[in-house]
Amino acid sequence: MSTGHLTIDLDAIATNWRNLDKLSSVETAAVVKADGYGLGADRVVKALARAGARTFYVAAAEEGAAVRQALGPGPTICVFSGHMRGDSDIISDMQLTPMLNSARQVQRHFSALPEHGFGIQLDTGMNRLGMEWDDWAATAEDVLRRKPFVIMSHLACADEPDHPMNPYQLDVFHQMTDGITTPRSLAATGGILLGEKYHFDMTRPGVGLYGGAPFSDAQTVARLDLPVIQIRSLEEGEVVGYGNSWQAERASRVATVAAGYADGLIRAMSGKAVLHFEGQPCSLIGRVSMDLITVDVTDCDEDPEFLTILGPHQSVDDLAQAAGTIGYEVLTALGSRYSRRYQSR
Ligand SMILES: *Cc1c(COP(=O)(O)O)cnc(C)c1O
Repeated sequence: MSTGHLTIDLDAIATNWRNLDKLSSVETAAVVKADGYGLGADRVVKALARAGARTFYVAAAEEGAAVRQALGPGPTICVFSGHMRGDSDIISDMQLTPMLNSARQVQRHFSALPEHGFGIQLDTGMNRLGMEWDDWAATAEDVLRRKPFVIMSHLACADEPDHPMNPYQLDVFHQMTDGITTPRSLAATGGILLGEKYHFDMTRPGVGLYGGAPFSDAQTVARLDLPVIQIRSLEEGEVVGYGNSWQAERASRVATVAAGYADGLIRAMSGKAVLHFEGQPCSLIGRVSMDLITVDVTDCDEDPEFLTILGPHQSVDDLAQAAGTIGYEVLTALGSRYSRRYQSR
């Protein structure tokens, strides 16, 4: 078998949720968009529900339908993109709760599904999703009469605790919502770590559940072991891979490993990432190709059968940093070719 093995520790996800839950005194929801940050929403949501999560957030109604199928009736499943044209049936059939983002979405929802639950997303300065002052002022009275599930907004810079945008958005959120009895939600993973003022009535962690920054106390969730297809000896001066971008400066052993950019090992990792064999770091050399990478295993005591690119020696954020990106992108890029194993006791 030449596919990599992706091992996902469901107990670690549950532990991360519990530990984030302990950081606030309010309800902790779980963000499971993009197929549970690439780790498999169906398994992830069941583990989170067992840990105690009752509210789940996804990006699109179609993702919400998959989560509903995994969880069955009961938990609330919120959709960040709101009520899009053509979504009325899926929202109704799958009992999804759209976060309405504009006056237009409010109108669409109230006319298509007047009795159906919803939430409101407000823009407090990120300028991405949610109603701004004018729209909110014009619709608030009508909206609040129909008792939204939650009023939420999202922080743009919460991973930088000292960023002035954090208190600014907090202030705008207060101004837009103070005096309203609807439950409020502002904090994702970064916002939880900013402290109690940011917690309101519900937090919405995503990346921290999956072991990513800025939740530095997170347990490792994903391990990725890649099979070595062959190993060759090179003499000093020989070259490796497309564009001959690596040249041996000493007699070397080079392993050809079965995973490439089609599996989410983005090309920016070329010549930068590190893999591990029993604690021994081994450099990724040359360019990442579609299905293969090449790795310098000269310093290994024996020829490895597998090399580990995510695991105890290297987190998603470590790998992301080597490629100039963020842990979120490394996780959600994890390919469909890996054989996946879910671990729980
Ligand atoms: C993705 C997302 C979250 C979760 O953010 P993390 O940084 O992964 O914790 C919460 N709220 C909104 C609106 C999001 O888009």
